[in-house]
Parts: sequence; C-alpha cells; structure tokens
Amino acid sequence: MAKSFEIAVFQGDCIGPEIMAPTLELLSGISSDYDFNFTDCPAGATSYVDCGSDLPEASLETARKADAILLSALGDPAVRFPDGTEMTPQIDIRIALDLYAGVRPVRVVPGMRTPLIIPEGKIIDFVLVRESTEGLFHTQGKGLVTEDMAEETLRLTRRTTQKVCEFTFDLGRARHKEGSSGRVTSVDKANVFRAFAFWRDIFDGVAKNYPELSADHAYVDAMALYMVQKPWDWDVMVTENMFGDILSDLGAGLMGGLGMAPSADIGDDHALFQPCHGSAPDIAGRGIANPFAMILSAGMMLDWLGRRHDMPGMIDDGKRLQAAVDACLAAGETTGDLGGSLDTLGAAGAVMDRL
Ligand code: NAD
Repeated sequence: MAKSFEIAVFQGDCIGPEIMAPTLELLSGISSDYDFNFTDCPAGATSYVDCGSDLPEASLETARKADAILLSALGDPAVRFPDGTEMTPQIDIRIALDLYAGVRPVRVVPGMRTPLIIPEGKIIDFVLVRESTEGLFHTQGKGLVTEDMAEETLRLTRRTTQKVCEFTFDLGRARHKEGSSGRVTSVDKANVFRAFAFWRDIFDGVAKNYPELSADHAYVDAMALYMVQKPWDWDVMVTENMFGDILSDLGAGLMGGLGMAPSADIGDDHALFQPCHGSAPDIAGRGIANPFAMILSAGMMLDWLGRRHDMPGMIDDGKRLQAAVDACLAAGETTGDLGGSLDTLGAAGAVMDRL
C-alpha cells in the first residue's frame, strides 16, 4: 500500500492560493509509491479579516501534527494590525516549531535572468543556511523605542548556534557525497562583535567532527561582495538571522529575482517549505504569478521527506521536479516575469509535461 503523508497547507494571501493549487496537483500525480493528504490551514491577512487571528491555534496545531508543511506567501499590505504593522505568521510558525535552519539554495541555470556574466566552466550552486529563530530578530516586536533612542537586541544561544552549525555541516556532507566541493563557510562579523566570536568558536568546534569537509570564515560585508564577484566559489554557508535575511535576497537576485527562489525552514521535528517571495498583491487575481519557486519548494519537501523516511524514490522525485523546472526555464516555458508568455497554470502544466 502507498505510504501516506499528512501535509499542512497554508494557502496564503493574494497570489498564494494561485501558485499553491497547481503545486498540490503536481505533488498528487508525482508517484504511485506514496500519496499526500493535504489539510488547509487558514492564516495570514485573509484569516485575520475572517476570524480576527492571523494564525489560529487550530492551524498551528495541524502544522505541528503534520509530516511536513507547505506555505505559500502570506500577507497583504492593505490589512494591518492596529499598530500599523503587517502580520507575519510565517515568522511565528518558525519560532513555535523551532525551525532554526532556513535553507536557501542559490542555483543559476540557463533561462534565469541572472544579472551576472558567468565565465565558461563556472557553476553557481550553493546553499545559504540562515539561523531563523534568534539573532537580531530576538526582540522582534518588543524593541525599546523612546523619544530619543531605539534599541533591539541580538541574541545567539549556544544550543541553537550549535544545532544550525551541525545542520549546515550535515548538509555539506550530503552535498559533498554528491560531488560538491565540501566547503563550509561561517558568515559572521567576528572582527567587531563578541557575539560573533562566540558563534565562530561554536562553528569551529562543530567543524572538528567533519574532517572530510573544509571549514572557513568570511565577514558578512565581504560575503556580500564575494556573492556578486565569485559566487561559484561557495558550497554551503551558515549565518545569523538578519545577515541571512539580507544575503538570501542577494542570492535570489543572482537567480534573476525572487520568483525563482525556493526555501525550507527546518528544525529537529518539523519542516516548512515556502517560496522566498511575498504575496505579490500587485498581480493577484490575474493568474499570471510565477509558480516555479513554490514548485521548487515542494521539490525540497520531497527531498526532506525522502531522507527522513528513507525513501530514495522520493528523493529522486524531488530531483525530477527540479530538473523539470530547469528544462522549462531553458526552453523559455515561463511566466511573464521571466520573459515567457505562459500564465500560472500554463507554466505549471509545462512542468507537469516535462515530468
Ligand atoms: P513581493 O515579493 O510580494 O513582491 C515584490 C515584486 O515581485 C512585486 O512586483 C511582485 O509582483 C513580484 N513577484 C513576487 N512574487 C512573484 C511571483 N511568484 N511571480 C511574479 N512576480 C512576483 O514583496 P512585497 O510587495 O514587498 O510584499 C507583498 C506582501 O507579501 C506583503 O504583505 C509582505 O508582508 C508579504 N511577504 C510575505 C512573505 C512570506 O510569506 N514569506 C515574504 C515577503 C513578503
């Protein structure tokens, strides 16, 4: 009998449901060895308007019990809390489920609108791991603001820093086995802040357990430069929450924009997969949103579930999904933001055909 997986689905706001629907269809048809039971979890701006909560307890509970979580973009600038801020339940879920490792792959393949000129023989394929539960987000929503000053606090704990470094080295090891360079880089600011000297010490301690990999460090400001000047040099890097927030958008820029950037937020017991882009209210309802980042995020879910449940066929299906998107990109079978002429369903259908 086919193995069945419970998936909590956050359809999101604006273009969220438009890119989620074809992604669920692709997942439903990808294999006869396993299937998915999708459960809708209201959250975000639409949920706030409907029931007064941007993250109802029942949705969080469904996510907690699920085998994995798929999340489309949440938020709508037109719907705000009384203090004027927007709702960010995707960040609340990360904290509630301790999803400390934000995995942001940066792969540039033919057909992407990269602003770079890539020298012959160079390949851009690295992964940025962003610690996603603490760092400079520690006082998010609780920062001290007076008439004359504003203050936020950065916090790094030994427990979480250790975990995110171990996660990164494990990822480096898995990629190295598949032929990557095996370089793992700590991106920090240890020249200025004691907190990052603390981070580096932990990183170096973890590195000792992975003798087959090479471990090194880069300052975050230099890394912003290197990601543009020599992005082909990197394999896996790990960094603090705010640094990772900024560098991952730079990574998306290398791929020609947020429409191609998938992500995963992974903890010990739970994992959530979502595109890096927002809910694009400016194009919502027109059926023209690019579904590729959502589909690639679903591919990352197949890879994670396959490794967790020792199902090599599922890992292969994740790779097939990625290869199908790559083939569509190379053939120009894309939405308008990437220069193609397909709408959302047309682009997702092209991926289905390639599969
Ligand atoms: P955005 O990413 O939604 O849009 C930026 C630009 O990129 C827009 O021009 C948009 O049309 C375009 N774009 C984004 N995704 C696209 C896609 N799949 N296909 C084609 N074009 C796409 O960023 P924003 O405008 O700053 O934010 C809009 C809303 O999304 C806000 O409410 C914000 O809070 C929310 N947001 C949510 C997440 C999340 O759920 N993880 C992340 C970022 C922003």
